[in-house]
Amino acid sequence: MPADHPPYVIDQMISAKSIAARIESLAREIGTEFAGTDKLVVVGLLRGSFVFIADLVRELDLPVEVDFLEASSYGDGMDSSREVRILKDLRGQIEGRDVLVVEDIVDTGHTLAHVTKFLVSRNPARLRTIALLDKPARREVDFKADWIGFEIPDEFVVGYGIDYGQRNRNLPYIGKVRFTQ
Ligand code: 5GP
Ligand code: MG
Repeated sequence: MPADHPPYVIDQMISAKSIAARIESLAREIGTEFAGTDKLVVVGLLRGSFVFIADLVRELDLPVEVDFLEASSYGDGMDSSREVRILKDLRGQIEGRDVLVVEDIVDTGHTLAHVTKFLVSRNPARLRTIALLDKPARREVDFKADWIGFEIPDEFVVGYGIDYGQRNRNLPYIGKVRFTQ
């Protein structure tokens, strides 16, 4: 994809070390919630959650299966689309299973609200949600994830799986985009 965005720099907001420490503690809480289960499916929302889900499942001391779902998102811009569509469905069945949905950011709340409704209609035994980042100031629908990594202000962020125009997903930290012109 051509880089046709105005010039910008990325200012670090959350270090790789802080993320790792937070994930360790979240994994302990999730382990307590799902203790004893042998039917947990961890569902990552593509593509932004792929780094988070990879680190999170490796801290979980539970038997887990991993599946992925893709919902329509920002596209290549910086604005939420609000109308959420399922672009890629799960491969596996979740009826009667425990499900943990893993998202990168809760922003307006439309995506997770929609995805949760979509998955609950398949009658999982339990469905919980986790998002690495939460921007409560941007909420448009009443949605609260069961676990949040970090609350952040209303800034456009990248890194640790999260992109701007498909770039910067490979940064090991979370940074905010600052335009220089
Ligand atoms: P929603 O507004 O539906 O809660 O979130 C829509 C999607 O927007 C999320 O899945 C998230 O990936 C994306 N999003 C929200 N804030 C940001 C951001 O600061 N940077 C990027 N790259 N994506 C974001
Ligand atoms: Mg997303």
